[in-house]
Amino acid sequence: MITPQRDLRSAGSLWLNDRQTALRHRSRPARQVYDIAIVGAGVSGALAASAIADLGKSVVILDRRGPATGSTAASTAMIQWEIDKTLGELAQTFGEDRAAAIYRSSLAGLVSLRRQVIAQRIDCDWVDRTALTVSGDAIGQRGLKAELGLREKHGLPCYWLNGRDLRTGYGIDRTAALVNGMNAELHPVKLTRALLKRAIESGMELVAPADVTAITASTRHVTLGLNNGTELRVAKLIMCSGYEALPQIPKSNYRLISTWALATAPMRDLTMLPARPLIWEQSDPYLYLRTAPDNRIVAGGEDASFVDADKRDALIPRKAGTILRKLKQLLPEFKGEVEYAWAGTFADSPTGLPSIGPVPGLPNVFATLGAGGNGITFSQIAANIAREWVRGRRHRDQALFAFG
Ligand SMILES: Cc1cc2nc3c(=O)[nH]c(=O)nc-3n(C[C@H](O)[C@H](O)[C@H](O)COP(=O)(O)OP(=O)(O)OC[C@H]3O[C@@H](n4cnc5c(N)ncnc54)[C@H](O)[C@@H]3O)c2cc1C
Repeated sequence: MITPQRDLRSAGSLWLNDRQTALRHRSRPARQVYDIAIVGAGVSGALAASAIADLGKSVVILDRRGPATGSTAASTAMIQWEIDKTLGELAQTFGEDRAAAIYRSSLAGLVSLRRQVIAQRIDCDWVDRTALTVSGDAIGQRGLKAELGLREKHGLPCYWLNGRDLRTGYGIDRTAALVNGMNAELHPVKLTRALLKRAIESGMELVAPADVTAITASTRHVTLGLNNGTELRVAKLIMCSGYEALPQIPKSNYRLISTWALATAPMRDLTMLPARPLIWEQSDPYLYLRTAPDNRIVAGGEDASFVDADKRDALIPRKAGTILRKLKQLLPEFKGEVEYAWAGTFADSPTGLPSIGPVPGLPNVFATLGAGGNGITFSQIAANIAREWVRGRRHRDQALFAFG
């Protein structure tokens, strides 16, 4: 095995409830030589495939499970450009200019994902949403004010809402919030499968289940060994293996943890949450929520610093109860009940940022080491950087996320 095999999530995710049409796939690759292999058919692999679809390359996508059945199926899929760490926090680590460049890169990633979904009419329940960062016990009103000043200084679109306006405008009981547009909610499994379907229609091959168990990288090509004994040779390899990362990737400060999420039963209406924003509460542990098209609230948080799957899954009822109680505190008029509750492996890093790029010491291998709550936006940034790498160029944001 080249990547560790993990129990990435519990059963019970909302997104696995819908029936999906079958995707054309093979159990073995049709050829022995391709230009590009993508390992991983989750949202990261699907976005990478989409990003390189017009380059005229022969591409094989391999997954040891099936499409969108890893972490992607656990995601609450709030699509945000605002990063887990505030601009102020990132500025303390990287300096203001670089922190602002990272925020701008995140905004550009989201815009490119949106453009793609809309231009290609991708059926994934995409809805544009405003996002609210509301004050909590980790960052209060004063901290949010300082953040607003910094964002304004760097031209990042954002405005202020005081407690009264937050209550009357959004039904939320907190002292203040930052508001920003250009965010979205979507169905992560639908997005991934729709992108893969297009990739297959454009000539790419999906091979699943196929476990890549060996990689030999040289300056001329990369050889992949599969669990069924097949060997493939590719010019370049893009690793999109999610939280099952290559051992060769530098992982200083990267930590796997557990997280929990729930979806309420559909409610008669959601007028108690006008405009249905994405909400991120700046508390520790944090709480976040969004809505779904059938009038549910999807919420999550309560991270804990262990990955043991049995322990994680045993805690689902208790963690879902805590998330529900916190929802009721934040939204005094909310009366929903839990219909789905699930748990997943997640990753954090001190900066909340992923590492993306060519893997040091492994020629012709590109990878993403995902971390933080903006996983899907980061997957799009990674796809854009990978596209330039495949073309033999350097994306302007490559240095912001490169492996250290
Ligand atoms: C509960 C929860 C809530 C989240 N909420 C959000 C959110 O609101 N917004 C957001 O942006 N992000 C969120 N995330 C993060 C986001 O879901 C992840 O960043 C994203 O799903 C990762 O996708 P991926 O394709 O990289 O990984 P995966 O979906 O896990 O796909 C990786 C694939 O690689 C395959 N693979 C691994 N090794 C091999 C191998 N050797 N050979 C063949 N195949 C292999 C696996 O089988 C797997 O299918 C959340 C995550 C969780 C768990």
